[in-house]
Amino acid sequence: MVVHFVPWNTSNNLLEETRRLYTEADTFGCIEKGDLVAIKLHVGELGNPTYVQPFFVHEIVRLVKEAGDKPFLTDSNTYYLAQRHNAYDHMNTALMNGFNMAPFIVADGLKSENYRTVKTRGILSEIEVSGAIAEADAMLVVSHCKGHELSGFGGAIKNLGMGCTSQAGKLRQHRTVGLEIDASKCIGCGKCRVACPMDIPEIIEGKAHNTSVRCMRCPMCIEACPMGAISFVDKPNLNKALASAALGVLSTFKKGKVSYVSFAKDIMRFCDCLPAPGERMMEDIGIFASDSPVSVDGAFLSMANYKVLNEASEVDCMLQVEEAKALGIEGETKPEIIKI
Ligand code: SF4
Ligand code: SF4
Repeated sequence: MVVHFVPWNTSNNLLEETRRLYTEADTFGCIEKGDLVAIKLHVGELGNPTYVQPFFVHEIVRLVKEAGDKPFLTDSNTYYLAQRHNAYDHMNTALMNGFNMAPFIVADGLKSENYRTVKTRGILSEIEVSGAIAEADAMLVVSHCKGHELSGFGGAIKNLGMGCTSQAGKLRQHRTVGLEIDASKCIGCGKCRVACPMDIPEIIEGKAHNTSVRCMRCPMCIEACPMGAISFVDKPNLNKALASAALGVLSTFKKGKVSYVSFAKDIMRFCDCLPAPGERMMEDIGIFASDSPVSVDGAFLSMANYKVLNEASEVDCMLQVEEAKALGIEGETKPEIIKI
């Protein structure tokens, strides 16, 4: 499963280059006339400046319509409380960020209760796939390659595993990672509770405690703690969970009905879920297209200096790609890359 690639060269017309990329990679070969085609993307948190530029998505929508299909933009609600937590806020954010070129259907519904629980393998035995994604005839997975505080890297596998699952599915994946509070370092200042979007840490007899099943293992309390008392445990488990969830999501599609386009531009330290995605980790690389999430992520990691992402997150980015392949998702971790 080869990967086709266009370098990010602003001396060229990148819109025209992507058209050639889609033709060479047969990106739209996964769809048949009349299909309801999910274009799975991340519309960016409100204020985030680095998500995939809408005009690239506009072109994909145009080409899908030209092929006689019915494209709809889609993403699932976030578990954390921000501007994409429910369908109302999510749709407004999509509009404000420029995604008005096709209907935007929030895949898991108004309050994330529209999902289908499917069996999977690996670190998870089942996963909650967002309803509109499970029902779609075909899917184009449009991803932004960037760093991530917990998984080290976010690309196509993360877009499938985390992005195509409901809040219940997201929580299931995040809770494969543990969280530890070192009581010997804790001074009971309560800054962790103030920073927590769920008001979870409780201060009992001068020490912070977290026993809540709602804790989603975000880094907010860790970053807020002045004593370095809070840390993740078994962080690489999230990468295994992403692969496991991605396998479950793909099980809702017939073979050959999902295709991938990944934009390796504005490769920041953190993901598009944050209004402030942090520092730039490397130069822009280009645009990849493939019919495999393993290959498209493997291609990015082959061309990127991903050690900087590993060092920033203290987790090996390659683990999610290797785990996805080990679970049986087709593709190569070091694929052949054909430059267009
Ligand atoms: S990791 Fe910390 S900040 Fe995040 S939900 Fe859990 S307690 Fe709250
Ligand atoms: S922020 Fe750190 S030191 Fe303060 S209460 Fe929370 S764990 Fe303890």
